[in-house]
Amino acid sequence: MNHNLYLQFLAHFTQQPDKVLIDTPEGDEYRYIDVQTASQRLASVLSELGVQPGDRVAVQVDKSPQVVMLYLACLQVGAVYLPLNTAYTDAEVEYFLGDARPQLYVCTPDKLANAQQFSQQGLVVQVECLGTAGDGTLMDRAESAEPTTEVAQLDGNDLAAILYTSGTTGRAKGAMLSHENLASNSRSLVEAWRYSADDHLLHALPIFHTHGLFVACNVTLTAGASMTFMSRLDVDGLLDRMPTASVLMGVPTFYTRLLQSPRLDQEVVRNMRLFVSGSAPLLAETHEEFQQRTGHAILERYGMTETNMNTSNPYVGARRPGTVGMPLPGVEVRITDRESGLSVAQGETGMVEVRGPNVFQGYWQMPEKTRSEFRDDGFFITGDLGRIDEQGYLQIVGRDKDLVISGGYNVYPKEIEQLIDELPGVLESAVVGVAHPDLGEGVTAVVVLKDGERLDEAQVIASLQSSLARYKQPRRVFFVDSLPRNVMGKVQKNQLRATYADIYQ
Ligand code: ATP
Ligand code: MG
Repeated sequence: MNHNLYLQFLAHFTQQPDKVLIDTPEGDEYRYIDVQTASQRLASVLSELGVQPGDRVAVQVDKSPQVVMLYLACLQVGAVYLPLNTAYTDAEVEYFLGDARPQLYVCTPDKLANAQQFSQQGLVVQVECLGTAGDGTLMDRAESAEPTTEVAQLDGNDLAAILYTSGTTGRAKGAMLSHENLASNSRSLVEAWRYSADDHLLHALPIFHTHGLFVACNVTLTAGASMTFMSRLDVDGLLDRMPTASVLMGVPTFYTRLLQSPRLDQEVVRNMRLFVSGSAPLLAETHEEFQQRTGHAILERYGMTETNMNTSNPYVGARRPGTVGMPLPGVEVRITDRESGLSVAQGETGMVEVRGPNVFQGYWQMPEKTRSEFRDDGFFITGDLGRIDEQGYLQIVGRDKDLVISGGYNVYPKEIEQLIDELPGVLESAVVGVAHPDLGEGVTAVVVLKDGERLDEAQVIASLQSSLARYKQPRRVFFVDSLPRNVMGKVQKNQLRATYADIYQ
């Protein structure tokens, strides 16, 4: 049997050739047959460029439907698709190329001349470019190439992609994902979210991360559905298209931004059946406000580059704010003591560990790191802390690396953040541990106030006194206009720790 993920999509290409798969706000439409033909031409181009099964194809280009075609072509020929964040600088790209040693590097047309240095340095063999209007050397080659229908014969464990993690806690690591990892996870999501060929997805996420590429695109392709491809979050653009769409997948920022628009109401969402949130914690307040305005309970799920999606709130049944739901079909989740690795008692907080067909094959060229993140029985240690409540819903409490140890006591930032967020006038907050001469780490709060609100450090500290043990109370509180976030809406706590590194010295 051929385990190539491409075959999971293939039937839709042959059965509904004239259905539009991808449209854009600019009015472009690509039918299933158009996407298939273009990707089959690109598959020929990849072979011409010497790309063999198992070779890496590194891609650092702006979002466009052509990138999906290139991704499909890589799957078809058995190449390992390796997308890179478009924000990476030349020096960063050099590091990733040196790490991954791709046969082919695809960059944007404006970077083509400069990118030749990477082949001169021997980091890559071939360099091509791809622009957002389908321009560039790669599509030029594709135009004169014959489409190939050959599909590489693969084992389920063969690599489909290497995706670098977001680098929130340190240098980004290359997660090796197999065809079976991706295929099984998208089938689980199609089932869990009742995805069908009738669905139309609003796709405004970047496609160099799991969320936008594997959750959004693989699920759409597995179900034979369709999507509108937007280059970035554009609230009015989303609302313009919403009446004829059925699903939105977003990071929490999508929902806070949508809520700021007076156009968001029951009427504009009349055709929508599902709003999904992930990549970063969705505030319970956002969930509740969204439900009041639209009648829809946002479905929050939890995943990561290394595992795709692990848990999801139910499609039918209560979607509980502040939780990420239950394990997806085939995925096991357990909570362990961070030191001993033993399971904790029901309801207690500990390390979230997962096992299942979704869990990756290891970190690219980091065998030591890979070994240290797996238990002997195959569970992957996610690095996230969580607890499972009485109803079986998982709550993510924060990251292990963000745990504050003050005076020898563990302080979970989320507990304090939630209390601060409830104070009148507060929009959001982040709590970090900062080196402290007596305590080891001092609990430090960074707070964003709502427009026009006033609150000072002493007031925040005073209002927490009755609800928090002394060791959990912030030693210092700082006010900022906004929290530092990356493109996926993740708060960059490393950056906050660096900013306030010296305050207790
Ligand atoms: P790095 O591993 O390089 O430090 P990263 O962990 O941010 O970066 P990703 O794999 O993109 O890289 O993100 C996965 C992480 O995102 C999870 O481990 C978890 O901390 C967080 N996350 C994802 N979904 C949720 C969610 N619904 N609620 C809370 N956190 C989430
Ligand atoms: Mg991570």
